[in-house]
Amino acid sequence: MFKRISGARDILPEEVFLWQDIEEISRRTFSLYGYKEIRPPLIEEAHLFKRSLGASSEIIQKQMFLIKNKKELYALRPEGTASIVRSYIENNLQKREGFVKFYYLGPMFRLERPQKGRLRQFHHIGVEAVGSCAADLDVEIISLAENLLKNFSISGFKIKLNSLGCPDDKLKLASILRKNLKGKIAGLCKDCKVRFKKNILRVLDCKNESCRQVIKEVDINEACLCSDCKVHFTKVKQGLDSLKINYEVTPYLVRGLDYYTRTVFEITHDALGAQDALGAGGRYDNLVKELGGPDIGAIGFAFGVERLLLVKTQDTGRKGQGLIYLITLGEKARNEGIRILDSLRRNSLACETDYESKSLKAAMRQANNLGARFVLMLGEDELTKGVITIKDMASGAQKQVKPDTLELIKELKC
Ligand code: AMP
Repeated sequence: MFKRISGARDILPEEVFLWQDIEEISRRTFSLYGYKEIRPPLIEEAHLFKRSLGASSEIIQKQMFLIKNKKELYALRPEGTASIVRSYIENNLQKREGFVKFYYLGPMFRLERPQKGRLRQFHHIGVEAVGSCAADLDVEIISLAENLLKNFSISGFKIKLNSLGCPDDKLKLASILRKNLKGKIAGLCKDCKVRFKKNILRVLDCKNESCRQVIKEVDINEACLCSDCKVHFTKVKQGLDSLKINYEVTPYLVRGLDYYTRTVFEITHDALGAQDALGAGGRYDNLVKELGGPDIGAIGFAFGVERLLLVKTQDTGRKGQGLIYLITLGEKARNEGIRILDSLRRNSLACETDYESKSLKAAMRQANNLGARFVLMLGEDELTKGVITIKDMASGAQKQVKPDTLELIKELKC
């Protein structure tokens, strides 16, 4: 017996409709904001991610799915941003389009220790706006993320906001941290001891309680931001205020990847437990240039679909929506039933039937399980009378009509 690998899931049909809802709502919402879909490959040169996310980031250090091919090293994508920037540069989109707004949906791969809300194959819904440094774009993108959650019928989330500043500001923050934490390394967890040397900003958003205690004592505020970055951050906050979007300025929010600059944000939900981030994003104003493209700013975010589904309490009740279930009794009725089934489907009505000729009771049970709206019954009696019985599953009412396609369509419209 083969089993799926740990941290990868089968999304079975009974759940797929929830995924389709999330995808449909996303597409509709993104198009309102002018985002177009992009579909980069799931596999890239591994070096692209190392260069973009940073050699010392957790993803590069521990979580890459790598595939060796002769002298080349490929990776299953752990996130979408690097591929999209690569694609923007490689397809010369700066010349063709300049400023672009893209969205993407699809699987990502990280070799993590699987637990609730943390998988090895999970799915992102994300956006990237490439080609502008305007603070208005940060406001628009955070508003889009919030609106998207509302459209998914998700409430009770928190938006955490911070500004990391430009690369010089990040260096300033790292040096302040190094000075302040030097005498306190013993109180840090094993991972943060390594982070202290390799990626000190990451110590700030460590979830470990002992690290939090140590960090609490370090005064982190906007003092590290240069004047331009301060102005940018003020504009973002004012813009969010004017749209009445609730957010919390969280100076400890740093995000783990090298490419982030200026605005970073994370959207959390208490119902998720330890892995509480529904989604996250931020600016990456130097990445396009870093990867060989023009010197232009960019910003994006991604939600994890599995986590959205963990907190989404209302479903749209699409199960069996409008479904018609046909039950036939006897060989002759079966042949006539198949003709009716085919013609209803060709007229865009969703129909299902019992292929195994079960008893009437068993077939009714299946119709119920599928959430059928109507059941059509055709037996000896109906054939003799030249009718078909329609049962309305909501009211229980039954009526007999001619088994004529147009007549049936009229009766079965719900
Ligand atoms: P990140 O690229 O790490 O900022 O991730 C963005 C979002 O993707 C997170 O907020 C989570 O909702 C989701 N996510 C990240 N890693 C995982 C994972 N291993 N399993 C499930 N969802 C994840």
